[in-house]
Amino acid sequence: MRKKLIAANWKMNGGLEVNRALVEAVCQGGSDLSSEVVLCVPFPYLGQVGALLQGSTITLGAQNSSEFESGAYTGEVSAGMVAEFGCSHVILGHSERRTLFGESDGQVAGKVLQALAAGLRPIVCTGECEAARLEGRTTQVVSRQLAAVLEAVPDDACAAMVVAYEPIWAIGTGLSASPEQAQAVHRQIRALLKDRFGAAAELVQILYGGSVKAANASALFAMPDIDGGLIGGASLLADDFLAICAAGDLVT
Ligand code: PEP
Repeated sequence: MRKKLIAANWKMNGGLEVNRALVEAVCQGGSDLSSEVVLCVPFPYLGQVGALLQGSTITLGAQNSSEFESGAYTGEVSAGMVAEFGCSHVILGHSERRTLFGESDGQVAGKVLQALAAGLRPIVCTGECEAARLEGRTTQVVSRQLAAVLEAVPDDACAAMVVAYEPIWAIGTGLSASPEQAQAVHRQIRALLKDRFGAAAELVQILYGGSVKAANASALFAMPDIDGGLIGGASLLADDFLAICAAGDLVT
């Protein structure tokens, strides 16, 4: 049985004061959740949020880490550094990184390898743009993105991996994929994981992301291969985020 995982992606939002209020409210309201919850925050706040999460079952995550282990890579942050701050997860290959910063499938695979080596659980993001969806190329795009990672990782990587399906046309637009649309892609992702890892693929959490709100979370999370959500905008408001976490608990 897979536990639901609700991952907050704060993106480039936050500040010392607002973080404190948000994390305290989430910890208070989320003290008895049975779903796993992780807050993926900007690098400079890892220390602050990690301290605020002490004693809570909610864990800390990052939103990116390097494909390189260490060295002369000005501005980069290594997976080892992220792990040292107590992170459990790191989001890798988010569509904003791929489209705005030109991350290739190969770079994402390199980042996943480094994250695994550092003991982090990578949340590997996949998802097609609107044009690809309209042209019927969703499977092709998601398969290509995931294949680059699956070919690179070691055979025992399965237990640590999380995959997210985030259609780009649904991110921050208020336009979510329907539960059926999302489930169809999640089933394909599960099949690709099974081809690579065999039966162990049944244990991999596959998250849906893209305009998840309290109003649509329960229907999405009730789908057999949707094991939780990657939540952007709604993770910045404690009540909205907690309502999504509660939806995860309802169907766990
Ligand atoms: C995201 O960027 O990962 C995301 C899912 O954003 P939103 O929930 O705002 O659509």
